[in-house]
Amino acid sequence: MAEKVLQVAETITVGELADSLQLPVTKLVGELFKNGIAATVNQRIDIETAQIIVDELELDVQLEQKEAPIEQATARALGDSATERPPIVAVMGHVDHGKTSLLDAILDLKVVSGEAGGITQHISAYQTVRGDRSITLLDTPGHEAFSALRQHGATLTDVVIIVVAADDGVKPQTIEAIKFARSANAKMVVAINKMDKETANPGLVKGQLAEHKVLADDKTWGGDVPMVEVSAKTGDGIDTLLDTVLLVADIEELKADVDVPSEGLVIESHMEVGKGPVVSVLVQHGELRPGQFIVAGKTYAKVRTQTDYAGKPLAIAGSSTPATVTGFKEVPSFGDHFVAVKNEKAARAQIAKNRASTERDQAQTNVTGSDLLRMMNKKAESQEVNVIVKADVQGSLTSVTDSLKLLDNDELTVRILSSGVGSISENDVRLAAGSNAVIYGFNIALPPAVKRLAARDKVSIRIFKVIYELLDDVRTVMEDMLSPEVVETDLGELKVLGVFRTTKSAVICGGEVLRGKVVPNVLVRVERGGETVAEAEVTKVQRQQQEAKEVFEGEQCGLELKTKTKLTIEENDRLHFFTRELKKRTLSA
Ligand code: GDP
Repeated sequence: MAEKVLQVAETITVGELADSLQLPVTKLVGELFKNGIAATVNQRIDIETAQIIVDELELDVQLEQKEAPIEQATARALGDSATERPPIVAVMGHVDHGKTSLLDAILDLKVVSGEAGGITQHISAYQTVRGDRSITLLDTPGHEAFSALRQHGATLTDVVIIVVAADDGVKPQTIEAIKFARSANAKMVVAINKMDKETANPGLVKGQLAEHKVLADDKTWGGDVPMVEVSAKTGDGIDTLLDTVLLVADIEELKADVDVPSEGLVIESHMEVGKGPVVSVLVQHGELRPGQFIVAGKTYAKVRTQTDYAGKPLAIAGSSTPATVTGFKEVPSFGDHFVAVKNEKAARAQIAKNRASTERDQAQTNVTGSDLLRMMNKKAESQEVNVIVKADVQGSLTSVTDSLKLLDNDELTVRILSSGVGSISENDVRLAAGSNAVIYGFNIALPPAVKRLAARDKVSIRIFKVIYELLDDVRTVMEDMLSPEVVETDLGELKVLGVFRTTKSAVICGGEVLRGKVVPNVLVRVERGGETVAEAEVTKVQRQQQEAKEVFEGEQCGLELKTKTKLTIEENDRLHFFTRELKKRTLSA
């Protein structure tokens, strides 16, 4: 356990964090910089990033988020007409633990076979019925997409089903899912899947979950998280799982307003030939119907057609219902809030308002934990550059992808997650956001809606017309991923002849320069009896009581040395002066 617990808000400025930790701001800025983030004192970082930095600095401090009311769909002041609504459930878990199969078993739909390349490319929402009640299910592309929603102040999910394979146990993405559920203030239900397997060990799974403070609500663990043993393959336990979800929903008393203009969130959007923008929304309050005017972000629609998740016409979409609508003027962004308005004039007025508030939001730059984790992962994992490639025609696409493969070397490989002919879509951006990929476009244009989404989700899109320029750019990205080289430059050496004063954090001593030179503001390594005993910083150099910029071999001087911890210097110690820099490495072409 960490010695000290600090309560902080969800985000904190670098300056505030330094204050709370009683550290110089420069120290934090330096540490962030080492991790690839150039941050200023006033920049906000989130709690995860802050914790990573604290850990890197080896401070025994645990940061905890102050209880802050999370803006939630249900937290909106409900009117008298509020009625029960179906729970919105996200299915999350480690890859291959059976999320898709479980959804499939619940919906009895062949979702798996429709998946492109085995990757869930978009948030899809479905509904299932258990008795006379509905459950809305979200299939998520990656937790980052959800975080993006949360940044918009919207928490969509009521319940997170965390799928854990009984034969594999808790894995990194399981932990991420737990974190997500906590940060979204959602209730957890654990589905221990693959129970049909001989090697299934639900007890082990529960034990591993307990290590992450997720305690089963059974006699052994005495916690409050329902855990249901299921098999997506045989269908065993699925009914119990759904009943459990409904039970959890009952306790939460989920409600929505009916007698209000419809409102909700955009959960998927793309352009379709012949139809224009095709937009999936999740209705949160009110009832959405064809013919209504709705505004989402910077665009609006007069709803032309409305269908349910299976593509059937839907006359009324009530709360917690996913619906796909056409009629938008432009493609709104994933996560945009939509609201019904009276008429076209009101729609235009609302758009102007939305535009002003997004500009305000964008004025603030934030660094999130996922940015940092992404960067750190880049350093840690065997190095892969994930790319998505889109090109104008098949011929150029093939040349680009073939040339990319030639860039692989011992340290780094280029992994093409997806490639295709045609313009860059919002799904490409989502895939890139979820897998830390760069999108390359060759000879194509970038639709403004896609550009906006990419800016918001911090996805890099690079468009080129010349292949070798594109390849050079990939090479630069690869170079950025190589961890920087630490370069130390030796400056000189001094023999300590006397120590004048030692305080808590500084030592004043004097000696003779044996070699090279001594200058202020460099680092020094203290050598005693052939061993390095400490490292410190030279803060002042004096020659005959006068501050000096340089003192050379053969001369004597006084020094002020500082360290974080207590430093002792003794007569005859050898001080080695040096500088340390981080140098970017380059790939040999
Ligand atoms: P996802 O990556 O979490 O969406 O996992 P999938 O649903 O794609 O499943 C990964 C693999 O596990 C597939 O080969 C499934 O057939 C298999 N699988 C999923 N659920 C079960 C189960 O309950 N029992 C068994 N035996 N295999 C399962």
